[in-house]
Amino acid sequence: MMVGKYLKKCPICGGAVKRARAPYLMGRVVIEPKLEVDKCARCGEEFYTAEQVALAQEKATKLGIWKPWQGISITKSKKSTTVRGR
Ligand SMILES: [Zn+2]
Repeated sequence: MMVGKYLKKCPICGGAVKRARAPYLMGRVVIEPKLEVDKCARCGEEFYTAEQVALAQEKATKLGIWKPWQGISITKSKKSTTVRGR
């Protein structure tokens, strides 16, 4: 899920959000193996800032994995807004 800023509380379940390192994936490709993210301790949702997503997309574009015109990021953000916990 993409957020405007770092969070302290999960907007989905209200659980505590803690800093963690998690791989950032685009489809099945790992873009950043250890991206620093905020992760909900209760439902496990990961929160990325717009800046983190932009950097990951830039890297993916350079690697030739992600092409902006394919609109993968739009699909991804749509998906994460409809996901309720895991
Ligand atoms: Zn949560």
